Amino acid sequence: MARALPWGRRRPNIGGMSFSPDGRTVLPPLGARKRIALVAHDHEKAALLTWARAHREALARHELFGTGTTGGLVAEALGLPVTRFMSGPLGGDQQLGAAIAEGRLDLLIFFWDPLEAQPHDPDVKALLRLVVLWNVPCAMNAASADFLFSSPWLDQTYGRSGGPRDPRAKISATPQA
Ligand code: PGA
Repeated sequence: MARALPWGRRRPNIGGMSFSPDGRTVLPPLGARKRIALVAHDHEKAALLTWARAHREALARHELFGTGTTGGLVAEALGLPVTRFMSGPLGGDQQLGAAIAEGRLDLLIFFWDPLEAQPHDPDVKALLRLVVLWNVPCAMNAASADFLFSSPWLDQTYGRSGGPRDPRAKISATPQA
């Protein structure tokens, strides 16, 4: 006999998430003014700053975030406010991942280093997993960031479809004792 799960038959609204009848998470739309996170590994910081300078005008219309070092460099280079998380190797990537899961970020520009292993590679992988899971637009090099920033959706509300399925849906469908 299947053991009754703590949350019983009804699926509660955990962490403010709601689910569609087909068991998928309903994603809130991305607002017109995006909350944009910028991150670059050390060997990619110069490339990110070059890209950010070229897109300063567009970046200025949005709310900027970044990991500790990257955020500081972007703020200095652009003269724009940037809310800084911790430095990546100290937990900043995990903080970004949590913010994405909680719907507090709308777009990620992450120039990660394809030529060098990082001490926090597991955190980087976790961040990239959450970006895909939550259907958050993400660019990982200058060309894709250019494409993202030439999208009409950058300055418009964007209704996302295809939220992650509720991984508990199958379990909670099990008949209760
Ligand atoms: P940093 O972190 O901006 O503090 O250098 C970035 C990273 O390594 O993920």
